[in-house]
Amino acid sequence: MERFITKENLIRLAEELSATCRVLAPVAGCGTVTFRRFLPGMVLDLHSRMAAVSPKAATFPQTETLLTVKREIPEKKPEITETLPEGKSVVIGCRPCGARGKLIFNPVYETDKTKDPYYITRRDNTVFISLACDRPETTCFCHSVGSGPADPDGSDVLLTLVGEGYVARSVTPAGEDVLKSALFTDAGDKGKEADAKNAKAREMMGEAHDYVSAPAKLLARFDDMDFWAAQSAKCISCGACTYMCPTCYCFNITDDDLGLESRRIRSWDNCMSHTFTLEGSGHNPRPTKAHRLKNRVGHKFSYYPDLHGGVMACCGCGRCIKQCPAGIDIRQIVKAAQEYSE
Ligand code: SF4
Ligand code: SF4
Repeated sequence: MERFITKENLIRLAEELSATCRVLAPVAGCGTVTFRRFLPGMVLDLHSRMAAVSPKAATFPQTETLLTVKREIPEKKPEITETLPEGKSVVIGCRPCGARGKLIFNPVYETDKTKDPYYITRRDNTVFISLACDRPETTCFCHSVGSGPADPDGSDVLLTLVGEGYVARSVTPAGEDVLKSALFTDAGDKGKEADAKNAKAREMMGEAHDYVSAPAKLLARFDDMDFWAAQSAKCISCGACTYMCPTCYCFNITDDDLGLESRRIRSWDNCMSHTFTLEGSGHNPRPTKAHRLKNRVGHKFSYYPDLHGGVMACCGCGRCIKQCPAGIDIRQIVKAAQEYSE
């Protein structure tokens, strides 16, 4: 289904949806753009730049309670309650790469043998209304990892800015339901204009880099710690790259014991931290930042694609490149491994 919505009506749509759902949208503040819970009257920043943090938290929150445990009297069997997420969410104005991030989660959190009910419930109750990029940034490389600035995969609705509004295309049945709102009008021939804008954005990105050899080439450098020491020399182990990333899915579990009442909490973890693999004995199988960077890059461009039909665990959003305080560029690391000659 293809419809049109004016900029004003998109805000009205957010207001309408916020009456029944949790709406997350990009909001500017403190020199950056982040996804916040939308409340009527809020000013959205849909166009100035891509949000620094991806919309991952909509389906995989930074911290969530998995279950609560209550003990009325210490001798009595504790009462354990699973706290599955409730309610529906809508993400408005994320870029296609942000919506696509969850496609990397799916083969990990929903397999024949293992199902993560927390992630699956949130994913199935979240609608992504994405906005195609019309000015890809220099750090963007979605076109090199099988995607593009107007990729509909992972979105429910894809918007393209045309004049004073957006051509809105449904991608899923949930997206089709959104387009049934009276705030949308007939798109007329604006669809052609949207196609031209999307083609222009793709053209602006230039030639795609070929990552086909990356999995094998990175594996060939697995024991070459001099290579990884050189690539990670500037890293300060801050973890910004993992926290901003729409495709990083590692977590930690902690028990918050409040006496007769306690909570089991899941939080994002950070493989760039030395504590990520620190064992109780004090042994650490990834003792240096070189080992940790090797794991992060190797996971995204070698181990994950080996397990999942060649799909890179990276949607090319470039957030890790933009936000790295040390100027480390994951594209350059993979390229260096691909071009390495003994
Ligand atoms: S690894 Fe970097 S470029 Fe790739 S999805 Fe994560 S943040 Fe984006
Ligand atoms: S953002 Fe840069 S400096 Fe920080 S952990 Fe990642 S690679 Fe290292």
